Amino acid sequence: MPADPSGPGGSTPRDVVIAVHGGAGTVPRGSLSGERERAYHDGLTEALRAGSRELGGGGSSLDAVEAAVRVLEDAPCFNAGRGAAFTADAGHELDASIMNGRDLAAGAVTGVRHVANPVSLARLVLERSDHVLLAGAGAEEFALRHGVPHSTQDYFFTQRRWDLLLAAKQAGRGDGSGGTVGAVAVDAAGDLAAATSTGGMTNMLPGRVGDSPVIGAGTYADNRTVAVSCTGVGEVFLRGVAAYDVAALMDYTGATVADAARTVLLEKIPALGATGGAIALDPAGALATPHSSEGIVNGYLTRDGSIVTRVYDDETPATG
Ligand code: ASP
Repeated sequence: MPADPSGPGGSTPRDVVIAVHGGAGTVPRGSLSGERERAYHDGLTEALRAGSRELGGGGSSLDAVEAAVRVLEDAPCFNAGRGAAFTADAGHELDASIMNGRDLAAGAVTGVRHVANPVSLARLVLERSDHVLLAGAGAEEFALRHGVPHSTQDYFFTQRRWDLLLAAKQAGRGDGSGGTVGAVAVDAAGDLAAATSTGGMTNMLPGRVGDSPVIGAGTYADNRTVAVSCTGVGEVFLRGVAAYDVAALMDYTGATVADAARTVLLEKIPALGATGGAIALDPAGALATPHSSEGIVNGYLTRDGSIVTRVYDDETPATG
């Protein structure tokens, strides 16, 4: 058994109230500019603070994960909201989901093209519809009906994602360019929540749906076990029903969050042929961040208010 039960990604922090991720990283240390590295840390920190403000003001874990993911969607360095990956036809199709661990209520959207903050639309689906997952034109119409502002596709543009599309086309392949975002939280009432948001994979076929908007694959939360947000090659996370599998292992076998998340993310998902990672938080505040990818950009905030953000596994955590 490795010294660190959560595998790569550091220790298993305790007393965590909210954690966020900015995608399974594929960028080796040294090739990331200082400016981008700072943008990751700043985005994660701002997201954790936004979530913490909700929790501190008496908000629920659902409020906290929505607020945190909105910040990450607004930050152009992540592949969600502004800064989303390009599809093969040079457009943007956004996916998001959110789940409440108290009652297993969930909402999700997929293939959305004109909503700046898909996680909030997912929350509207949870609260104002009888459905769990709305797709494409129907989701856009639902957004308009609920007063969600219409964003044009150019809002999502970033030069970096455009260059990644051109590179993927030149190489004649799809590309897991990373940067999907997610959050997990536990509130004062002991309720868990999870949310995930993504622009998908660079150069993906229009209409492709990954794991992020699928409850059980990319996102899951159940007060009895765990809140999980995944990142990695969506096709494999769908086939492995990854997020639910972490919860099921804990439920059926009594595994700890660290052991369950490690089994799924470091054994079962890689055996299906993909790399990736997840953040998984249990109701007592134990956080696992296992990943088979180079890294997982992530951060967390503990009960005493201290913040840790990590772009690489081996870096000294910054406290803020
Ligand atoms: N899981 C996301 C998707 O397949 C991509 C990622 O996490 O990098 O859409």
